[in-house]
Amino acid sequence: MDKLIEEMERYAREYDIPIMQKEGLVFFQKLIVENHIKSILEIGSAIGYSAIQLARLDPDMHIVTIERDDERYVKAVENIDKSGLKNQIELIHGDALEVDIDGSFDCIFIDAAKAQYIRFFEKYEKLLKEDGIIVSDNLSFHGYVEHPERKMSRSLRGLVRKIKNYIVYLENHEKYDTLFINEGDGLAISRKKKTNMVE
Ligand code: SAM
Repeated sequence: MDKLIEEMERYAREYDIPIMQKEGLVFFQKLIVENHIKSILEIGSAIGYSAIQLARLDPDMHIVTIERDDERYVKAVENIDKSGLKNQIELIHGDALEVDIDGSFDCIFIDAAKAQYIRFFEKYEKLLKEDGIIVSDNLSFHGYVEHPERKMSRSLRGLVRKIKNYIVYLENHEKYDTLFINEGDGLAISRKKKTNMVE
């Protein structure tokens, strides 16, 4: 397994595939274990790296993961086959904003097109179990979100603005409380607010 992981990390570096940063991944794995998470819906599989790293934590873990890019999807199929975790990982080829997913999950992991985070959240939060968590990655976007004074292209500035809008959206969400974590490339952990039923 470790050989496969190294091979995937090397491939990601060589072909510029943005897989989860080590530090963020270690934090996420700990979070998954501590919260007894057994089912994850991942938006954005890339080459299957995070799905494999999460599935290997627990033989009872079930992961559904969605990837729209053809080449990355094919590579993810190959890697998941090699990992021997095929029975735990269901890989779906398609656009997460278009496919229909059934079921309910302990964790929804949003790690796809940054400009669409609000749409992913709104589409998939319905599939979250009552005590589940929604984890969003790359909210720091390589430090650009915290350092808007840095030189950026117009498209990068637009993307950073969208990430900021998503942060504000989470901060003001009436149904979710969110914790922002400065690990890896910046993570957010959102949980449903508990409503006090007063008679
Ligand atoms: N979670 C992966 C990991 O850490 O190993 C990395 C995912 S990478 C940051 C984001 C991926 O999301 C890309 O491979 C991209 O093709 C995919 N993606 C972007 N928008 C998507 C969408 N609307 N539906 C499905 N996949 C999408």
